[in-house]
Amino acid sequence: MADADRVDDLQLGVDAVPVLIGPVSYLLLSKPAKGVQTSFSPLSLLGKILPIYKEVVSELKAGGASWIQFDEPTLVLDLDCHELQAFTEAYAELESCLSGVKVLVQTYFADVPTEAYKVLTSLKGVAGFGFDLVRGTKTLDLIMGGFPIGKYLFAGVVDGRNIWANDLAGSLVTLHALESIVGKDKLVVSTSCSLLHTPVDLVNETKLDKEIKSWLAFAAQKVNEVNALAKALAGQKDEAFFSANAAAQASRKSSRRVTNHSVQKAAAALGDSDHRRATTVSSRLDAQQKKLNLPVLPTTAISSFPQTPELRRVRHECKAKKISEEEYVKAIMEEISKVVELQEELDIDVLVHGEPERNDMVEYFGEQLSGFAFTINGWVQSDGSRCVKPPIIYGDVSRPKPMTVFWSTTAESMTARPMKGMLTGPVTILNWSFVRNDQARFETCYQIALAIKDEVEDLEKAGINVIQIDEAALREGLPLRKSEQSFYLDWAVYSLRITNCGVQDTTQIHTHMCYSHFSDIIPSIIDMDADVITSENTRSDGKILSVFCEGVQYVAGIGPGVYDIHSSRITSTAEIVDRITETLDVLEPERLWVNPDCGLKTREYTEVKPALKNMVATAMIVRTQLAFAKEAVCRKWD
Ligand code: GLN
Ligand code: ZN
Repeated sequence: MADADRVDDLQLGVDAVPVLIGPVSYLLLSKPAKGVQTSFSPLSLLGKILPIYKEVVSELKAGGASWIQFDEPTLVLDLDCHELQAFTEAYAELESCLSGVKVLVQTYFADVPTEAYKVLTSLKGVAGFGFDLVRGTKTLDLIMGGFPIGKYLFAGVVDGRNIWANDLAGSLVTLHALESIVGKDKLVVSTSCSLLHTPVDLVNETKLDKEIKSWLAFAAQKVNEVNALAKALAGQKDEAFFSANAAAQASRKSSRRVTNHSVQKAAAALGDSDHRRATTVSSRLDAQQKKLNLPVLPTTAISSFPQTPELRRVRHECKAKKISEEEYVKAIMEEISKVVELQEELDIDVLVHGEPERNDMVEYFGEQLSGFAFTINGWVQSDGSRCVKPPIIYGDVSRPKPMTVFWSTTAESMTARPMKGMLTGPVTILNWSFVRNDQARFETCYQIALAIKDEVEDLEKAGINVIQIDEAALREGLPLRKSEQSFYLDWAVYSLRITNCGVQDTTQIHTHMCYSHFSDIIPSIIDMDADVITSENTRSDGKILSVFCEGVQYVAGIGPGVYDIHSSRITSTAEIVDRITETLDVLEPERLWVNPDCGLKTREYTEVKPALKNMVATAMIVRTQLAFAKEAVCRKWD
């Protein structure tokens, strides 16, 4: 924060706390630039960056800061003793410049392991320590077991990553217990992490059901909860606020709209045969090829085509009831027809409908599933400057009626080529929604999986032979600590398999993933048992290939993206040829698909057309090369 901003805050009478990423986390979360030796450790730069931290701290002190917060979230990871040692060294070095200001070292998103807790609470020059007590309940035991005398404890009891109202009575009990350990004047009530992850203010939700609304707290409400708890601790409990909160908690627990007994029964009855296709992927691929008759290196898109301003206008006008449902359907059908025509013109092998009817790949399904509520203004930042409106899962999930069959069959009727049905997978719907906190995540995920399974089977019945189930966010839900990862991966993979274990061998199941950092989770990727996996590849610098170089046996189809859809640059055929040739060094041509990295919704048609044209041209060039090579080998043996 610049000095000038600080002065503004003070002039407004706000003693704001400037927040900096702490020096050790800054380095531990940095990656060496391309071309730098892989053995290079960013942590070796610690001595170089500490003088800069000293300078910034001095400026903030001069500007009048009374507290400075250093975020050190890496303290919740599995750190080795060398990395932990770096914290001790860094703060010992900073100690002299930290006098005259109170420094808080903040952690979040998980428990702090015992060793890290010892290191953290012994740091020199630090006045207070902050913990996420929502995702880090074991940390609570560590604090109860001992906390340094005279230091402040910032107790993150209000969830900064979800939208449920706090159980104020329960939090107050926790806070009283903590107070007995750290002392009355050293306990600070706080949110579990920054409020960046929740929407701004519930008052903007004018269309949300009243009962559901009473169960929620967005950022503004969370600040009120923190205040109410702090006041209650100081002996000024707002009884009306607390009893309204208790009533909302009770209503959520007993509400009939939360429970759907038949869904719970179906999820509880899931057995081994409900999550495994009966045949091997090789035999299925043979059966599918007989039906689909695709060329070697088949081409396809990941599904969405540009969301043009015209499409947004139509959707907006339909929502605002300015145009009729029929007019809306007609406009979407016209768009699908254009997308189909374009793909035929480009000579793509397996077509997509382009997703013009979808506002977002998760929100679209959330709006149609029972057990979900959705907001009108609940925006949160997702990636850079992009924002999403995650749906809210408040109850047992079911699918009242088909969600995509109409659009997929409409698209399929427009072409003789195979048309991919397009669904978002259960793990991605879960990871990109606000999830209920009154049952385990995996239970909610199985319920979503059963709903998507209904949709998969309806698509198959309607004659769709290729179905893509996107699991864009599989990796995103991976727990930070290794000890918790295999449990997550097991139920995540199981959930995806539930969705398609009932289809015939001739129905080809694709899945798409947005990250290709597969090396540490490759057994789970294989275990997903999809017929074809398409994934991002260009931004990860071809990391997916390194997995296959390490001798992993992979027999399903795979489409590592051949060009980066996040860039407006048109990748040349020569570049794509190089990329495919590189891939063919480690993968059999019979396995390989040719597709972009991801969906095209954020691009313009002026970029999409030439990019896809180059992609198809490349597939043709490489097919010819492969045919020549095969012919040459045959001639040699003649
Ligand atoms: N099917 C989605 C699309 O094409 C996939 C997007 C994603 O992976 N994020 O847009
Ligand atoms: Zn993607």
